[in-house]
Amino acid sequence: MNIYLNSIIDPKSTARLQQLIDGAEKIVITCHTSPDGDALGSSLALMHLLTGLGKQAHVVTPDVAPDSLRFVPGVKEIVPFTRHEEFARQLFAEAELVLCVDFNALKRLDRLAPLLEESKAPKVLIDHHLEPEQFAEVIISHPEQSSTCMLLFRVLCQMGWVELIDRKVASCIYIGMMTDTGNFAYNDSDPEIYLVIAFLMECGIDKDRLYRAAFNTKSENQLRLNAYAIANKMEVLTEHGAALITLDKTELERYGYKKGDTEGLVNQPLAIPGVRYSVFLREGDDYVKVSARSIGELPVDRLCSEYFNGGGHKNAAGGEFYGTLQQAIETFHTATKEFDKYLTPNDK
Ligand code: 5GP
Ligand code: MN
Repeated sequence: MNIYLNSIIDPKSTARLQQLIDGAEKIVITCHTSPDGDALGSSLALMHLLTGLGKQAHVVTPDVAPDSLRFVPGVKEIVPFTRHEEFARQLFAEAELVLCVDFNALKRLDRLAPLLEESKAPKVLIDHHLEPEQFAEVIISHPEQSSTCMLLFRVLCQMGWVELIDRKVASCIYIGMMTDTGNFAYNDSDPEIYLVIAFLMECGIDKDRLYRAAFNTKSENQLRLNAYAIANKMEVLTEHGAALITLDKTELERYGYKKGDTEGLVNQPLAIPGVRYSVFLREGDDYVKVSARSIGELPVDRLCSEYFNGGGHKNAAGGEFYGTLQQAIETFHTATKEFDKYLTPNDK
């Protein structure tokens, strides 16, 4: 089976990556904290490929993958730092190559960051977030790509590795492409995405099953929590084209909240005509977790970096607020005034 994609990656980077892989036996792959489908998909795709080539490849994550992503092939083999700190330390200390996927800043590795910094192994970054920090020898950074998995597929293509993609690897790659685009509903203007999907289908992925597992599998508690949040905790600020949803700890506990249970909730207010961006504030133990989404030109990554200690992409971003939930809500209201300048006359 063949696939031809435009070469967008500097061939020097893929040649060097190939050379580094050839020269390494022990390889660590790592991704950002609270891993999402793209982070796990790209990490595990690499793990399967490298293991197939006879390498000792391990995925080390800062924390545990959410239950909602247990269906990603290979997820049980991941070594989360929060669960297996000693083993994670050993893997980093012995690694001859570290592959970093789907993050642009060391901070996104949380307590794993010092391990990466201390590691003497060469590092390669494959990522699609804006403005990557320069912590790796090889940086394959393409923020115009909709997912790290799509970018990884391009890397594999350019290295002549597509024949190595079996059903398991194809499923991992597809999961990242699908979840970072909301099942190909946004950031989806690159027609080559569809060539890749066709290729992955030829590799045997079960598209419908993966869709159901990623988007349509919810516990009763989870459904009720999301319905409660929209019915009772959503504020729509029509004059600012904005919406806010907040959940405090008591509410989360009432519905037995588990990580991942509010995934996708922040997108829902965007369905309301006139709402250009949406922010979700979830009270945690140490900080208020912020998630933001927008339509069109309104840059929620700026909103998150200016007000919520975070960043991300123009239309999907997040951050952490160190203060009370009430203060975070007030901060959001302040931000809406500044962000009026990004609303076009048609938006108002
Ligand atoms: P989510 O809302 O799904 O948690 O995150 C959406 C996107 O926002 C992520 O892909 C990531 O790029 C960015 N993001 C989320 N949380 C943070 C954060 O705490 N800091 C930074 N810099 N970016 C974040
Ligand atoms: Mn991603």
